[in-house]
This record gives sequence, structure tokens and C-alpha cells, in this order.
Amino acid sequence: MIIRSRIVVPMLGEPIENAAVAIAGNQIVGVGRFEEVEARYGGDVLDLGEQIVLPGLINGHCHLDYTRLRDQIPPQGTFTDWIRTINSHKVALSEEDYIASIETGLAEVQKFGTTTLLNLEAFPKLLPRIPRPLLRVWWYAEMIDVRQPVPVPEVSKHLHDWFESNPEWLGGFGLAPHALFTASAQLFLATSEISRKYQVRLTTHVAESREEMQMFRNANGSLFDFFKSIGRQLDDCGGTTPLSCLLQGNAVDERWIIAHLNEFSEKDFDLLDQVKKFHIAHCPRSHTFFGHTPFELRRLQRLGFNICLGTDSLASNSSLSLFSEMRELLHKELWISPREVLTMVTVNAANAIGQADSLGRISPGFRADLIAIPSAQTGRGVFDDIVAFEGTVPWMMIEGKELRPR
Ligand SMILES: [Zn+2]
Repeated sequence: MIIRSRIVVPMLGEPIENAAVAIAGNQIVGVGRFEEVEARYGGDVLDLGEQIVLPGLINGHCHLDYTRLRDQIPPQGTFTDWIRTINSHKVALSEEDYIASIETGLAEVQKFGTTTLLNLEAFPKLLPRIPRPLLRVWWYAEMIDVRQPVPVPEVSKHLHDWFESNPEWLGGFGLAPHALFTASAQLFLATSEISRKYQVRLTTHVAESREEMQMFRNANGSLFDFFKSIGRQLDDCGGTTPLSCLLQGNAVDERWIIAHLNEFSEKDFDLLDQVKKFHIAHCPRSHTFFGHTPFELRRLQRLGFNICLGTDSLASNSSLSLFSEMRELLHKELWISPREVLTMVTVNAANAIGQADSLGRISPGFRADLIAIPSAQTGRGVFDDIVAFEGTVPWMMIEGKELRPR
């Protein structure tokens, strides 16, 4: 099959005018000028007309569990207040609510042109009750042991067996010790060991808020007091930083995506210079919602970190659109180009989930995950047009199959 359009943006090299992508099965086999691709590969032609074809977008940090909380939580005074508020909403949600949340979220993600999603899933046991998603989803089992221990090997084996016996589910699973304040050092170590056993990836939240920095550096503040009140051991707090706490005793390497990383000491930057380069997920609109310390994007990029974008959940965001995330980042970081921002939700995000050789580009041998949007929106150029796109993505393909937005 050949897909023709006015422009194809392969993300490797320059955009191609009057272009085509040749697909065989679930793979891209060729990309180039239409006449050349047609002469070489033949087959049925689907002409998308005046559209821009680009790789499907990849969301590097999301919690579909909380789609139901859309518009329920206004910005709070502190991050700790937000935790209290979301916890009060969570106790009222049933398993059916969570299933509905995940399904609604999947439909919304697809509508906005995301073809691959990293979803932190607090209830992986619900997976068998969810209809198979059309999207490629990496389900990272979120683990919290601040109140009770988590049987990490059992959860991991269960997920491993589930994905082995359900190969039609695209994507796979990973593990997500929730955060330094909710997951013990033992839990971090256990997930790291299991990640080697099953060759799965890891993610966690680190140094998101000022209160988290205060908790680990000064052993005080509202987050510290909150965890004291629920009986968390606090002997890891005081005289350190979240980042140094994470790196102490953990082999944090390319298997990990660290979400947020807003708070640093100057010594942390020396540490970052020396460590193996993990990946970082930044959530621009959730960052704005919380009013976090400005994200050190440029400095982290210069240190060699691969940075992707995520939406976070609708408990701190208004939609699951990566187009909106790209616009928010451009709005905040005036030096960054639309092309670079698009790279963060394609190439960089594919790299972060260990799929640099199969997702995030339109290139022979890559999976046929494509989207198309109308061209000539801004008159400023193809990357400006892409980032300016709003609304429902009119055409997409995942694993070589055309999908229509639900
Ligand atoms: Zn998160």
C-alpha cells in the first residue's frame, strides 16, 4: 500500500513535498517523492491530498486512571494539598469508574493523534477487563508501598504472562515505583532487579515540587508533615535532595524515564554530569497547573539527557493532547523551535521507551504508525503548521491499519 500526501515529515532528514510512504503489513518499507515510491513499490495508492503525514505522536507520561477527574480539581495552594484532594476523589472511585476512565482516556489520546502511550497504571489487574486498545500502550505498573508492601515479583510475573498470552495487545509493560516519598528504597531495588529479569523499562516521579525538595533537604514542610501524619519512615529525609536520594544505591540508567525533575541543588547538576544518562519526561501543562519551578530544559539537554513530553493526567491537565503540550512548551521556551518540540514527542519519546529503532520516525523498517493533518495552516512552514494543529486528527494508522477517531 502507498500513502500519498502533499508533505511527508519523516523526522530523519527534511520534509518531502509531493511524497509517499510505502507500507507492507505493519511496517514502513519506503518513503520519498511520490513518483519514485510508486515506481519502486507499486500497490494501491491512498491519496490523502493536501495533508501533512508525520509519525504518530508518543506520550511519555500519562495516568489514564484519572481521566474521570477532568475539571474536578482546580489548582491548589500546594502540591501537598493536591495530593490530599486527589486522594479524597480516589476513595470515591470504583473499579468500574477506573475502567471507564481508562477507556475514555484511550479514545481521547487517539483523537489527538497519539499512537503510542506510556501509561502509569495503578491497577494493572484491571487490564483483562479492558477491551484491547487500538493504540500501542506501554502499561507501567505503578507501585506504592508507603502503606503496605507490594509483591513486586508476583505483579511483574502476572503482567509478563498476560502480555505473552495476549500478543495482539501492542506495546507491553514496565514498572513504576511511584515516587521517592511513596515507594521505599527496597521497592526501587526490587523493580530494578525485575526490570533486568523481564527486560522491561522503568519510570518514576522525582523532584517534581518545591515541597518534595524541602522534604528531602530540610526534613520539614507540608509534604514532610503529610507523610509523617500517615506514619512513613522519614529517616531518608534531611541533608539530601530528591535526585541524590534516587541515585544513591540505584542503578539509574537508560532503562529509566524520570518524570518532572523540576527541583535541583547546584550539586545535583555535578551529579547529573557524571551519571549514566537516563531519560526525562516533562509535562508542560501539568507543570503550569502546579506552578512548579521553571524546568531546566536547556541545561538538561546540554548535559546530554534525552527529554520527551507527556500530558500527565486530567487531575492536573485539561486534555490529553500532545499538540497542546507542544504549544505550551513553545510558549514557555521562546528559544526552542517547533521542529525540536515535535522531535520530543516522536524521536525522543520512542528512544525513552526503548523503541528508537521502530517508532517515532517514518523510515524503512519502522512500524507503520502514522498520522495526517491538514497542511498550510499558518503559512510559516510545515513544523509551525504541525504544532498549530487543533482538534481531532482526521486520519491515522497504527501497525499498518487505518483508524478513524472514535
Ligand atoms: Zn505522573
